[in-house]
Formats: sequence, structure tokens, C-alpha cells
Amino acid sequence: MARVLVVGAGLSGLSVAMEASVRGHHVVVLEKRSTIGGRASSELRDGFPIGYGPHFLLKKGPLHQLVRKVSKVKPSVLPLRPHRLEILGTGMMQPRKPMKDAALFRRAVKAHDLEHPSIQNSDYFASWGLNNELRSRALLNSNLLVMKEGWSGLVGRLAVTLDEVGIPIETGARVEKIEKHKVHLADGRHVETDVIILACGYGQAKKLIPDLPAVSFVTASTVDVALDATPLGERHGILDVERSMAIFDLKQIHPGIAPSGALLSAVHFGEGKSENRLAELNQFMDLRAPGWKSHILHERQQKNVKIAPKGGRVACNVARKDGILLTGAWVESEHILSDGAVEASRITAEHINKMPLQQ
Ligand SMILES: Cc1cc2nc3c(=O)[nH]c(=O)nc-3n(C[C@H](O)[C@H](O)[C@H](O)COP(=O)(O)OP(=O)(O)OC[C@H]3O[C@@H](n4cnc5c(N)ncnc54)[C@H](O)[C@@H]3O)c2cc1C
Repeated sequence: MARVLVVGAGLSGLSVAMEASVRGHHVVVLEKRSTIGGRASSELRDGFPIGYGPHFLLKKGPLHQLVRKVSKVKPSVLPLRPHRLEILGTGMMQPRKPMKDAALFRRAVKAHDLEHPSIQNSDYFASWGLNNELRSRALLNSNLLVMKEGWSGLVGRLAVTLDEVGIPIETGARVEKIEKHKVHLADGRHVETDVIILACGYGQAKKLIPDLPAVSFVTASTVDVALDATPLGERHGILDVERSMAIFDLKQIHPGIAPSGALLSAVHFGEGKSENRLAELNQFMDLRAPGWKSHILHERQQKNVKIAPKGGRVACNVARKDGILLTGAWVESEHILSDGAVEASRITAEHINKMPLQQ
């Protein structure tokens, strides 16, 4: 049994803590913020779970499976439906009329024919520009899900399980520096341990280990807003493929998610200055969700967030000689986004036994 200290209580930190505990290790989690969940959280305001950009759960992906495994009551989920998703300039992602177009769509989905515009657009949008076929197929087959509890419902379920097995999560504990088998906290404390697992996102990990290999990311601006109006009507979302922007109404996708009105979650991903990107997203919303600004109940805007790595990722054990392992969606695994984070956590936990213990 090793003493394992996990830095960060986002989905990677929570899932690696669980995996390490299942393998018999003694685990503690440190989180710098006052709340857990990281980028995958949402905050309940007047019954509206205001999140941090649109998040869709891959049905039967690693995260969905993990959550189902630890849940006594199954999470209530409903899918994003391609026939209610408008692609600007093209029409609905899944045309239902005329019959000819509907049949062509079905055939293209079966063959995953990238000549068909809906398949191209789905490839692009289902994984925020990463062109991941698994997620694209999931979108086209109504297998990208929205949870009634909001994305933080996932985090809550993992946190309850950690609590039940006695894994402490200390919030307000910022790790400032790491040495071999030792972490230093911002409040002056230091903790000795056998294995340190960095689950704090790439940017923070790079600050703590400056010689980590470089990783480039898809970045985005987001707007999340609760409204007392329904400016998208019955549509689940509107996609602007040329400009990499989208607005979704999570309340239309899962009516149980909010008490009334709309819960819009909008994203603009890609290159460019973050100020301009966020301004463009607001303009897009003015145009496509007319009047939204006069119906705001609660709102969150993010100028610049990392969605996922593009290209190469880092092996979980590159810093093993210093007693450090890594996890996150930027660490090597077969999956992407939070499924990548959960899958990387499983792989990382398997490496704990191969690590040198503190002398
Ligand atoms: C706009 C957007 C859309 C997305 N859409 C999807 C989607 O549709 N489907 C999907 O599966 N995934 C999606 N993702 C990706 C998903 O949100 C992330 O992969 C996942 O949340 C990453 O979790 P993490 O735990 O690795 O990192 P984070 O969530 O960043 O968590 C890191 C944690 O570490 C803490 N921390 C940082 N530094 C320190 C320190 N020094 N000391 C202590 N604690 C520290 C932070 O406070 C944070 O809580 C999306 C992401 C974004 C931004």
C-alpha cells in the first residue's frame, strides 16, 4: 500500500482517487478552490444549474460507466437530438422531410459518410473541433447526453462515493511547490507522501514541473445563462460551423434540468484573441437567441478556457523518478475530453504499484 496525494478535485482527481483506493492505497485529495469539480462543475441558482460551457456525456463512455457503477440511483439523462439541432445555412442536422433527404441521412449515418454535410458537421462539433468519430457517431445516434442534475451531478456522485470509502478531500488547499515525495501548500504546510498525482490541469502541472513536454489546446469562450424566455423555441441548439460557434438550450434537451424558461450554454472555440472571441459569441447570441439579454436570471461568461489537447499528449509517468504521476484529458489514453480524464486516471492508478516508495 502506498500513500497517495492527489492534487486537484476535478473529474481526474476524483476518479484517480477512487481508482487508487480500489487498489488498496491510502489516498488524500487537495483542492485549491472552496468547491470541487473544476471545469466540470455547475452551480445551482434558483433551480438552474449554471455550468462552465456546454458539456455532453458520451453514453457508455468511461465517465458514464464510472458514474453508473458508483450510483445507487441511475442518473436521469436525455440525449441531444440531431433532428432538433439546426446547422446554419444547411437546415436540421437530421432532416425528416423530404423523405429523400431523410433516407440519405440515415444511409450516411450508417456508413459514416463524410461527404454528407451533417456527418461532417457532427464530426466537427461533437468533439469541439477534434473530429472524434466515436463522439460524432454518438451525436448522430442520439447518444450524447444531458444530465438532469447538471454536470455537477456527476461530480457529486463521485464525491459521495469517496466520502463513503473514507477518502478525505481538503478544499482551500493550494499546492505551490513539489519536491520528491513532498508537496508544499500555500498556507506554509508541507505534506510527505509516497506518490504525488497531479490532477490539476496542464497549466498548473507545468508550473509545478516546468520541464513537462509542451501540449497545445483547443481553447474557447463560453456563455451560460438562465432565462425566463425560450429564444431557441423547440430547437436543442444552433451550430455555426464556419465560425465554430454554438448555442444549446439544455432545458429543451432535458426538461427536468431547470424549473422554467431556458438554460442556454454557448461556446465559441478556436484560435484568436479571447476578448474578441467572447464578443463574437455575444453577438452570435444577440442574432440567434433574440432578446436573450432582457431575460437573464443568472449568467456566467468565461473568456478563455482550455477544452482539450489537440495532437500529442503526455505519458502519465514522465516524472516517475520524482515520485510523480499525472492524470487529465491531456495525459495519454484512448479517449478524449472527460472520458480521456477518467481513462487516464485508471491507467495512472495502475502505475502506482510500480513507483518507488519514500525511504
Ligand atoms: C467549454 C468546454 C466544453 C467541454 N465539453 C465537454 C463535453 O462535452 N464532454 C466531455 O466529456 N468533456 C467536455 N469538456 C472537458 C471536461 O470539462 C474536462 O476534460 C474535465 O472537466 C477535466 O477535468 P480535470 O479534473 O482534468 O481538470 P479540471 O476540471 O481543470 O480540474 C483541476 C482541479 O485542480 C484544481 N487545482 C489546480 N491547481 C491546483 C493546485 N495548485 N493545488 C490544488 N488544486 C489545484 C482546480 O481548482 C480544479 O478543481 C469540456 C471542457 C470545456 C472547457
